[in-house]
Amino acid sequence: MTLWLPVRPEPAEPAPAASPVIDLSEVGKTYRSGSLQVEALRGVTLRIEAGEYVAIMGPSGSGKSTLMHILGCLDVPTTGRYLLAGEDVGTLTEAALAEIRNRRVGFVFQQFNLLPALTAWRNVELPLSYAGVGRDERRRRAVAALDRVGLGDRVEHRPGELSGGQQQRVAVARALVANPALILADEPTGNLDSAATTDMLALFEQLHDQGATVVLITHEAEVAARAGRVVRVRDGRIQSDSADSADSSDSSGSSAAAER
Ligand code: ADP
Ligand code: MG
Repeated sequence: MTLWLPVRPEPAEPAPAASPVIDLSEVGKTYRSGSLQVEALRGVTLRIEAGEYVAIMGPSGSGKSTLMHILGCLDVPTTGRYLLAGEDVGTLTEAALAEIRNRRVGFVFQQFNLLPALTAWRNVELPLSYAGVGRDERRRRAVAALDRVGLGDRVEHRPGELSGGQQQRVAVARALVANPALILADEPTGNLDSAATTDMLALFEQLHDQGATVVLITHEAEVAARAGRVVRVRDGRIQSDSADSADSSDSSGSSAAAER
């Protein structure tokens, strides 16, 4: 089921050249409603390699969520090009985009977005049912994903019977269940108290250690400090990227102070 790591060499075909998981070139996104136009992204160029743990930071309205929606194929760029694992997303049909979303990307949102009437494992199996996996296999994999986030003993609980931190763990399990190439999280600790935030960060780090590529949007310097790379967005542009200045020493003090 591993789609991304060349676990089994395929002797018939030469291995594809390792491409970055994310390769954005000059991506722009303009929202239009009536006569109003908002340029939410203005020429974003960004490459993220497999296995990176990247924090995206920036003021409210700077385009972070728009960027994440594009990364996760929930939306398409107005201009520029996006290659996801080497595949040009701009050339895909809506059906192919939906397929990529389901199989290759796991989302975690600030508001958890769980269905309240469904038990934890039912929430977690949803991406698999869209992908046409059989019921027994769905249950087995949902329970395994819940185990992985430390909720193996809560599989029959409904969201209302779980704490905020546990609900977010269910959301992470749902993001993991299809074994995606990429985990995208938009302010995943924004609704959590500090203890649950610490737990959640440990969980993302564990997933990263296990090989996941994680892109996490956050306002909190503490969260960003745990990521290997920090990309700052401002007015729809990349203002700074710690990967571009890995050997310059100003990345901790002065840029943290610039974050408001
Ligand atoms: P952030 O996540 O950094 O707060 P967003 O990406 O949500 O920023 O928004 C960037 C800009 O695009 C904002 O000015 C916002 O009002 C605008 N915007 C976001 N989504 C839409 C939309 N669906 N339609 C119109 N404008 C939008
Ligand atoms: Mg946002």
